Amino acid sequence: MNNEIDTINVGIFGHIDHGKTTLLQKLSGKWTDTHSEELKRGITIKLGYADITIYKDKEEYNIQGKGTPVRQVSFIDSPGHEMLMATTLSGAALIDAAILVVAANEGIKPQTREHLMALKAKKVENLIVVQNKIDLVNIEQAKKSHKEIREFLGEEFKKAPIIPVSAQQEVNINEILKEIVLTPIPKREINKEPIFIIARSFDINRPGTLAKDLHGAVLGGSLKRGTLKIGQEIEIKPGLVKKENNEIRYISIKTKISSLYKGSKKVPELTPGGSMSIETELDMTLGKNDALGGNVAAPIGALPELKKEIKLKYTLFPKVYGASTEAKVEEIKKGETLMLSINTSITGGIVNNSNKNDLGISLRIPSIFFKSDNVGIARNIQGHWRLIGYGEII
Ligand code: GDP
Ligand code: MG
Repeated sequence: MNNEIDTINVGIFGHIDHGKTTLLQKLSGKWTDTHSEELKRGITIKLGYADITIYKDKEEYNIQGKGTPVRQVSFIDSPGHEMLMATTLSGAALIDAAILVVAANEGIKPQTREHLMALKAKKVENLIVVQNKIDLVNIEQAKKSHKEIREFLGEEFKKAPIIPVSAQQEVNINEILKEIVLTPIPKREINKEPIFIIARSFDINRPGTLAKDLHGAVLGGSLKRGTLKIGQEIEIKPGLVKKENNEIRYISIKTKISSLYKGSKKVPELTPGGSMSIETELDMTLGKNDALGGNVAAPIGALPELKKEIKLKYTLFPKVYGASTEAKVEEIKKGETLMLSINTSITGGIVNNSNKNDLGISLRIPSIFFKSDNVGIARNIQGHWRLIGYGEII
């Protein structure tokens, strides 16, 4: 169903309490998934996302099914209370567009800045800004906050719309739907070798399930390119960690796809766009607690070797955002430890070469990456990993 209409992944970002979860609830109008099947619910809830179809009725957009379906959307919320930088970056690796929520009564806060920087680092170009809680401010304050947001977005995001909204009172939700529909769909490279970025993994079986009814481990994430089909054999890398004679080895995992889900719908084939999951024939316990998050899956033999050395072309931010005080970002020095976010994985490494434009880093854990992948660069500053810039793998 709805196979012809485009699907996009939209991430929701912003400072704590600015209304992200409330907005997501209003945008998705509770769970649109009315099927009671445990499995479907399990996947939807564990992935922390909601799927909707946006319909167009004359010039109005809605999620209630009026008019014709025009777009499928998978929303990804920021889990937990204070979203960790690492989570933000992994989330940003999966999305096509972002909604940045800024409460009109509070304005730009440290996490607002930090999240915008994460979007920059991961090259997320499609941005919709929601100026939320307009019910709490008067017209003057609303105008002032609008101006502040516009200046904050700067040249790079000067085309981003700023929509005044009250999520709580459901004011202007339809304008957001409209902007989502107007967001350009990135080019989907379906004819290339598939690459599935694993963000999460889980065991979807309920306690007490009979052995014959058990489901295999499920991988949640995003297909970057290509297509995947039921029955296809895949390989997961880096895979399992094995310690032998004080040496750590990685063993890639091979398995077969037993079912595929786009959002919470079962599909015979996956194409890029939207949140998705792969049910495998792997022992369910292998997937527990996101154990396979940060891995990459592809047809057997298609993935590159694990690498311990990485080379980046990079750019530093002028300041460190996210903390209450904004210090200048110091140059990267040889020998220092950095944290890199590559696709959905986070990897520490030591700088072995640092020039004005490029960096060489020895990774602590070997990793799977591809040329021109976007990388977030974080440094530990007073006990917190702070994003200080971004790079591109060369
Ligand atoms: P999150 O931390 O960004 O996910 O924020 P929540 O969605 O949990 O919202 C934080 C608080 O702000 C909750 O008490 C919401 O009810 C409230 N809130 C969210 N949106 C609005 C709004 O548009 N107006 C007002 N007045 N309160 C809101
Ligand atoms: Mg929340």
